[in-house]
Amino acid sequence: MRAGIVGLPNVGKSTLFNALTSSKAAQSANYPFCTIEPNEGVVSVPDGRLERISRYIVPKKLVPAALRLLDIAGIVKGASEGEGLGNKFLSHIREVEAILQVVRCFEDPDVVHVAGVVDPMSDVETVEIELMLADLQTLENALPKAERTAKSGDKEAKLRVEAIKKSLEHLGKDQPLRTLTLDPPEAEAISSFGLMTAKPILYVANVDENDLHGEGPLAQKVRARAKEIGAGVVAVCAKLEAEIAELDEADRLEMLHSSGLDEPALAVLAREAYRILGLQSYFTAGEKEVRAWTIPIGATAPQGAGVIHTDFEKGFIRAEVYTLDDLETYKSEKEIRAAGKLRVEGKAYVMQDGDICHFLFN
Ligand code: GDP
Repeated sequence: MRAGIVGLPNVGKSTLFNALTSSKAAQSANYPFCTIEPNEGVVSVPDGRLERISRYIVPKKLVPAALRLLDIAGIVKGASEGEGLGNKFLSHIREVEAILQVVRCFEDPDVVHVAGVVDPMSDVETVEIELMLADLQTLENALPKAERTAKSGDKEAKLRVEAIKKSLEHLGKDQPLRTLTLDPPEAEAISSFGLMTAKPILYVANVDENDLHGEGPLAQKVRARAKEIGAGVVAVCAKLEAEIAELDEADRLEMLHSSGLDEPALAVLAREAYRILGLQSYFTAGEKEVRAWTIPIGATAPQGAGVIHTDFEKGFIRAEVYTLDDLETYKSEKEIRAAGKLRVEGKAYVMQDGDICHFLFN
């Protein structure tokens, strides 16, 4: 999964990106922070269940799920017309599956705000408008070709024309495409456009150190807006997270506690990103590794197996499944089996969050 960090300049994007990707917490696991490009990092998604499983099935390594983060340059008014880095960064956003918008909710006279005043609602709106304008352009450019192809009787192109027209009408009412429901075949017909306002969005309210839980008036405005448009929201103090990320595990926990936080922002952020994307995890557990795999909610057993290897999906025979509760009760797979708790599931089985699985395949 890839998420792109966007926002106006000077809201704390780079600070947050650096805190998340350089964090010792992210490094200590199996995805040593690796830079794919200067502005892209891989962080592991913290999941306490991996450790709980490994108390009973002791592996050589733990492999958490991974989240790829892309730090996309700041969006300014006029970006959709090529202002600032304009189209180049918009093309980056087209490629990600989720958008994390950092919204400045901290006051600091030393940090200049591009609009002169800290106003989260206006920031949210500025970015949304640029993304809507860019989507509008994409759709308007695509319509004539789709119409020509549809005239020759191409069924898919007909669907595409319908979907484009509905989307244009929706954007015309100043509504992001996230709030438009298309039939699945229609949505599929325009999925390759990478429409940005159709992507799930998570607001990261970058709050003051004295408002870590985001209860102040500025963060509350962001929460209210998120609710309106079905977005997620987390409150993070990027500056504090950057300081915490520098620390070793023991010091990190102490600093979190003394700040009144239960866990680092990465954990909260990863969980919310999963939620808005409709994702969940299942596990494989053996002597070699205990590993988390990411699948959409509703995925069947063969689809779940397919994220390990496409051959697993094609040749799927059955899955043996148990839960972490079973493991904690019976202490070993052998005992789970002996107790008749090891379930054998076929092709139609819908995977559940936290399933521990073995797949049998041809
Ligand atoms: P970007 O342009 O959005 O990437 O913003 P930066 O991450 O470069 O941050 C801009 C400035 O704001 C820097 O001087 C940061 O130190 C400062 N900054 C970032 N987050 C916070 C925060 O939570 N509180 C305060 N007071 N300053 C912050």
